[in-house]
Amino acid sequence: MTVICEQCDRTFSVEHGLEQHRRDSPAHAVTHDCEKCNRAFDTEQALEQHRRDSPAHAIMHDCESEQREAVSAGVPDELIS
Ligand SMILES: [Zn+2]
Ligand SMILES: [Zn+2]
Repeated sequence: MTVICEQCDRTFSVEHGLEQHRRDSPAHAVTHDCEKCNRAFDTEQALEQHRRDSPAHAIMHDCESEQREAVSAGVPDELIS
């Protein structure tokens, strides 16, 4: 059985090796995680920028997406032709 550090793409033969790697590796120093996207960022600023820029965070509420669908479906035919 092997355990994988998906963030570093490294495998370890024992769970303890992975735990030690996570403690010791600079890649696992302090990270700022976006739990929604399952991504980690080195700095708070990088995380904030991701949250601003990522399409995954563009639509925050279900009601917004419903509104967009209503708008695109509600265009009168005379405006299309
Ligand atoms: Zn790692
Ligand atoms: Zn995210």
